[in-house]
Amino acid sequence: MQNETETGPDHFKGPVTVGDYVLKSKLGEGSFSTVWNAKHRLSGQEVALKQVYPSRLNRQLRNCFDCELNFLSSVNHPNIVRLFDVFRAEGCIFLVLEFCAGGSLASYLRHCGRVQEQIVRGFMQQLGAAMEILNSHHIIHRDLKPENILLSVPEDDAVLKISDFGLSRYVHPSDYAETVCGTALYMAPEVLQFQRYDEKVDMWSLGAILFELLNGYPPFRGRTNVQLLQNIKSCKRLPFSQLILPALDPDCVDMCSRLLSINPADRLSFNEFYRHIFLSRKGVAT
Ligand code: ATP
Repeated sequence: MQNETETGPDHFKGPVTVGDYVLKSKLGEGSFSTVWNAKHRLSGQEVALKQVYPSRLNRQLRNCFDCELNFLSSVNHPNIVRLFDVFRAEGCIFLVLEFCAGGSLASYLRHCGRVQEQIVRGFMQQLGAAMEILNSHHIIHRDLKPENILLSVPEDDAVLKISDFGLSRYVHPSDYAETVCGTALYMAPEVLQFQRYDEKVDMWSLGAILFELLNGYPPFRGRTNVQLLQNIKSCKRLPFSQLILPALDPDCVDMCSRLLSINPADRLSFNEFYRHIFLSRKGVAT
């Protein structure tokens, strides 16, 4: 990193450049990376620069990271964050990503509370389109959550983009993955129970996201993963808000309930989700 007036990206006073990019601000920090808002020094193109620290990655995470790079570099889809370039500098790996000015779906939710059903439908249609690509590449995301879904703009008609494939992994059809990872609130019960799992874990996460968009709170909570699992298992009926339930499209409730089926065999498959009648109607952002 070259800083014309000060050293250290956290305290920079003048422009810091990395490769061909001028850092503007820090967007956030993950466990293994820092994400910067940056601008190409010649074209002025605004990007998100993800700085990955290889020393923080063990072998398994390195595999996950390689998987993210392989997948993102082979995909060009409006609902999956674009990877423009990858380069090395300062002992780090930098991913040049499409900048999503709308922030994450988590911040959108914090701002909106609950979201109107018509807008939710449009969002789910877009997530379905992204999942179709993952499915065709035999990728399980495993970490689908509002924090990992970015918005092109902070508006209701935003284009949603799945990002952060750091935990995703190529899984051969008929194979099952056994690693426990992802974020508990959106995690399928079979993952919480250390059981073998397949691509239906992403369907559960979509159900949890759908529920939270409609109600403004997640379907299940728990102070620990054990408690969360107990709450999932003891749930007789999904805790839909009585403020919205009477006016909610029964097809929407049906889709949500079937995505949140505890038994993966009863849970909607991707194809059943994508063809569900609730998604076939016109949404806001398609
Ligand atoms: P972890 O990697 O530990 O799960 P994380 O998902 O929060 O954590 P990152 O994916 O590195 O970590 O993201 C850090 C922050 O940067 C998040 O707040 C995210 O919203 C933001 N961010 C990531 N990618 C982009 C992007 N392409 N455009 C705009 N903001 C982004």
